[in-house]
Amino acid sequence: MLALRFYDKRDIKLEDIPKPKPKKDEVLIKVTQAGISQTQINEFIEGPFFINKEPHPLTGKAIPLIPCQEYGGIIEDVGKNVDRSLIGKQVAVLPLVTCGKCEYCKNGKENLCEKFAYHGLVGLDGGFAEYSVVNVKNIFPVEKKELLTFIEPILVGLNTFNIYKSQNRDFDLYKKKVLILGAGPVGISIGAIWRDYVKADVYINDILNYRMKKAEELGLKTLKKEEIKENSFEIVIDAAGMDPISTQSAIIEGIDYIKKGGFLISVGSYFHPVSFIPSHLTFNEKNIISSMAYSLKQVNELPDALKSLKVNFQTLIQEVELKNIIKEGYYRAEVEKESFVRIVVKC
Ligand SMILES: [Zn+2]
Repeated sequence: MLALRFYDKRDIKLEDIPKPKPKKDEVLIKVTQAGISQTQINEFIEGPFFINKEPHPLTGKAIPLIPCQEYGGIIEDVGKNVDRSLIGKQVAVLPLVTCGKCEYCKNGKENLCEKFAYHGLVGLDGGFAEYSVVNVKNIFPVEKKELLTFIEPILVGLNTFNIYKSQNRDFDLYKKKVLILGAGPVGISIGAIWRDYVKADVYINDILNYRMKKAEELGLKTLKKEEIKENSFEIVIDAAGMDPISTQSAIIEGIDYIKKGGFLISVGSYFHPVSFIPSHLTFNEKNIISSMAYSLKQVNELPDALKSLKVNFQTLIQEVELKNIIKEGYYRAEVEKESFVRIVVKC
């Protein structure tokens, strides 16, 4: 089968490799949609940050690794312990795989597992291939094809809400002002969760005009940078992180936008230092909390959350063929940021 494999920074190859076979508790998925995320572009430009070079402690797998943690498709075959009626079903992959034994797993914080593995990112192959095998526990049935690459970002959005709730702060978020920085697939998914599921008063900002326009088309309220008032949001969520090219960072700006006593939730990726004056937090009791991927609790919440969402994700998708992924996917995502929100590889 055709697959993209990550060897190192600036070293990815399209290769013909053997089609995998499902082991007894696994399913074989014919991948139909696989999203190119900024996380993968960062790995390509100056990584590896997440992708492991050494054998993974849980799975034993090292590079080369098939990237992509946001994907799904149609189940084509199943292992001998798996219900055969699943064949033909459309499913998204739930990429998180954990040890189940460490203190974090035992306390419902699987996202912090000592042996954290993640399909397409850490210790396990992902979606940039014609086929993928995953444990039957790592699938989620999805009716709408356009949702396949958004299930993971939506789970990430649910985790930001869970992290906020765990602070034992104000649970009634109805009409509370929330600002999302970054209108990529993750920012828009987080925005949709906070607006439609949490029922907060959500605004979104991006430095890219194309993404602002797309967010508006989806019915999200946008604010240009000059329209954002300082000290005016209960919660700011940094879904932008640091741009590897411009090195602009959303987290520093975000601190100014939160109200006194408010929260900045950090989701975006940073691989370089940023600097700020800690007293800007202390004097105003502003808080920075962080949110990593998702835990199993969010998977249980997912059906209700999906029912609440009023966003047409299809309008964000631009498709490319797997055979063109390097030029039309990776290179384009690196240099033509004003032209897309979600590039999806169709395999
Ligand atoms: Zn664990």
